[in-house]
Amino acid sequence: MTAASRRAVFFDRDGVLNEAIVRDGKPYSPAGLEELVIPGDAHEALRRLQDAGFVLIGATNQPDVARGIQRREIVEALNAALLDRLPLERIYVCYHDDRDGCSCRKPRPGLLLQAAEEYGIDLARSFMIGDRWRDVEAGRRAGCRTVIHRQVALRCRIVGAQPGRRQRRSPMIPITDLRVKIFADGADLQGMQAMSRKPWIKGFTTNPTLMRKAGVADYRRFALDVVKAIPDRPISFEVFSDEFAEMAHQAREIATWGRHVYVKIPITNTRGESSIALIRDLGAAGIKINVTAILALDQVRDAVAGLAGAGPAYVSVFAGRIADTGRDPVPLMAAAAELVAVAPNVELIWASPRELLNIYHADAIGCHIITVTHEILDKLDLVGKDLHDYSLETVRMFRNDAVRAGYTLATRAGSKA
Ligand SMILES: [Mg+2]
Repeated sequence: MTAASRRAVFFDRDGVLNEAIVRDGKPYSPAGLEELVIPGDAHEALRRLQDAGFVLIGATNQPDVARGIQRREIVEALNAALLDRLPLERIYVCYHDDRDGCSCRKPRPGLLLQAAEEYGIDLARSFMIGDRWRDVEAGRRAGCRTVIHRQVALRCRIVGAQPGRRQRRSPMIPITDLRVKIFADGADLQGMQAMSRKPWIKGFTTNPTLMRKAGVADYRRFALDVVKAIPDRPISFEVFSDEFAEMAHQAREIATWGRHVYVKIPITNTRGESSIALIRDLGAAGIKINVTAILALDQVRDAVAGLAGAGPAYVSVFAGRIADTGRDPVPLMAAAAELVAVAPNVELIWASPRELLNIYHADAIGCHIITVTHEILDKLDLVGKDLHDYSLETVRMFRNDAVRAGYTLATRAGSKA
């Protein structure tokens, strides 16, 4: 064994090294060699990493073997084909199921730790690339840096990149063709009505902060006007009491405003006391709930548990506020999507996006809904815009503003500003 000095890139297998097989919107392993598809740029990408000095290692969970729905020989044949066609050193496999309590099933870091031992890998200088929270978490627990990889995003990138050919518009997926539903977040009636004329706006959310900013003085009157003006799409209004009994009262009233109204309940009150008991009661009473102000995964898990078995409900995770703390919201939201998947009545909302790109992030990780401010929606015309054209516009903007401001500097003798 050598000292731990080599750097590695660990790869999850299905959905990263080879394409996952999607059935009913869910990713599965290839059933056999006939279903094995390796993305066209995978070999080149791996070769470059190898040239840069990384040891390339696969790390895959294959629980279907323990579950009796896949044969170990087929997993081995698939791995052999990958090792044959890609410059990988080795693929480590966990064949266990959750109940086996092994130390190697991701998110546990066993596969990576074993590889580190056998190849002399310095984990702190290594990376784990995966498409699910289990991969990222295994990498994190092993002490690696982690990357979440989505083949949807990768495909956009490959299609968009055409060296040597200038395109007016790169063929990105238009926002309106994405699976994620776009909700408009705002609180001025006129703006909301304008948004409601766009058929691809699938719902609306408001909150007391936006309403205050928009100058709304009478909460009930404003809400009733909105509900009347937009009768055909879900709209969320928030309770604002800090006492659970009063919140319940407000929730019951808000729910009477329309069948398409969702009641926003913050995950705690201002004293940090959990709202889950209230959420459970209101859900049982048939009230549509939007659990809001969630920033952590344990809050997602608790909210989903409280809503399971109730009617339609949303769980709003404030991804933008998470990003504001310096944390990447994408793997966290991907993990949230998996937690929400156990309750078919619950949809996950990517709340407080900070940029238009977040709409693509939300779509790629299987988030159901993203609430987008009117300000970000105003940028939709930029989707796929040629970057050279955009650069030129930027240069012109700086120049025009400098001219308009009348700025002058000393010029070279004989030249004009
Ligand atoms: Mg995978």
